[in-house]
Amino acid sequence: MKYISTRGKAPVLNFEEAMLTGLARDGGLYVPQSIPNFSPDDISSMSDLSYEEIAFKVISPFIGDCFSDDELIKIINKAYTEFGHIERAPLVELESNHFLLELFHGPTLAFKDFAMQLIGQFFQVALERKKSRVTIVGATSGDTGSAAIEAFRGLDAVDLFILYPDGRVSDVQRRQMTTPSENNVHAIAINGHFDDCQARLKDMFNDFEFRDGVNLAGVNSINWARVLAQVVYYFSTAVKLGAPNKKISFSVPTGNFGDIFAGFVAKKMGLSIDRLVIATNQNDILHRCLSSGVYETDRVLPSISPSMDIQVSSNFERALFYATDCDGSEVSNLMEQLKSTGKFTVSGSVLEILRENFDSGRASEDETHSEIAYNYQKHSELLCPHSAIGVLTARKQRKINIPMVTLATAHPAKFPTAVKNATSVFPELPSRMANLFDLDERITNVENNLQSIQAFVKERIKI
Ligand SMILES: *Cc1c(COP(=O)(O)O)cnc(C)c1O
Repeated sequence: MKYISTRGKAPVLNFEEAMLTGLARDGGLYVPQSIPNFSPDDISSMSDLSYEEIAFKVISPFIGDCFSDDELIKIINKAYTEFGHIERAPLVELESNHFLLELFHGPTLAFKDFAMQLIGQFFQVALERKKSRVTIVGATSGDTGSAAIEAFRGLDAVDLFILYPDGRVSDVQRRQMTTPSENNVHAIAINGHFDDCQARLKDMFNDFEFRDGVNLAGVNSINWARVLAQVVYYFSTAVKLGAPNKKISFSVPTGNFGDIFAGFVAKKMGLSIDRLVIATNQNDILHRCLSSGVYETDRVLPSISPSMDIQVSSNFERALFYATDCDGSEVSNLMEQLKSTGKFTVSGSVLEILRENFDSGRASEDETHSEIAYNYQKHSELLCPHSAIGVLTARKQRKINIPMVTLATAHPAKFPTAVKNATSVFPELPSRMANLFDLDERITNVENNLQSIQAFVKERIKI
């Protein structure tokens, strides 16, 4: 299996190279040259398998000969051992034919653990074999960073740096990033928004001298291996609900379009998905684009669902790539327009293809708050604000006879203030991490400019 860039001008890579590289050298995102297809029989055969066994089936066609079957099985098994639920991604019925997919049983209580724990193991095996080291730099709105630090802490072939927007992550998120004491992981507070962190990260990847000098690798949601890890739970969920004989819809709280794009890949692989519903907060660039065809960045408005406070939705580029029938030069043009004018318009036929696959909705701050309250009163369910946005959008848009699954992307205890304000209940951390507030923090502030961040990274790496 080979990987190509959405902008068509970067070297063709194998799975391992695409994983270690992150962003393509032409600024694009790697996608597989072709998407494997599963027959209805392949899909039915998953219904009796464990999460790990389904992961093996879904992932193996994408990795070519980069990892042997034995290696892949070990990597997958190791990745999910720290999860607090035997099913890894359990499904609970919220109301008739509307389910919550609980993706928050990993070590940092958000769905990011599914991908990050897996790629930590992939990196470890690949780098050990090559006897090399990499420097990973990531940007986070909170959850990616904590998941990455948890997954990479103590791995000897990796130095990890996470840029997070100072004061804009929750205390639990910050503490998960700043309390690990291993000296190969560093959380860096940047004075700005998530989009500033992401922009500095992109600048670092586009500075080839720096990039090659420190052997830079990325683990943001643009990393194909992360998307792939997330494809697995669409399969494990759909077979529980009757796929391939039944169609299932998913509502996905999204910012960077990573999680929902994984659903799109599952659909392209043959999974019987009816609708994929994009659920955004007030930072609604994706909803506006689906509604009007104009993708236009706006000011980031901080919200009570901060992991979706994003105005440049990186993985959307992959959706555009498929909607333009894999036309790298058209994607390139659109991205150039975005860079120079802050917006682009998708042509009628491209918009039509996007709308064939995706619905969208947005929730205001008030609606998010009320939805948390409503689900507590009606179903005794404490939802994190992101999950609440997914549930609200699902309730508004679902067809009653088609099972709807809302992805519950974080544990309510990760966002206790918003949950408490809406329900008067303070959501407690699971007992296995109850000591988080007793641990010492290591806080590092670095100025929001490329040179300062690069200097800090160079000083700390062990290459
Ligand atoms: C990251 C995150 C999201 C958004 O996911 P994307 O893949 O960026 O779209 C939603 N909810 C939570 C809790 C998250 O951590």
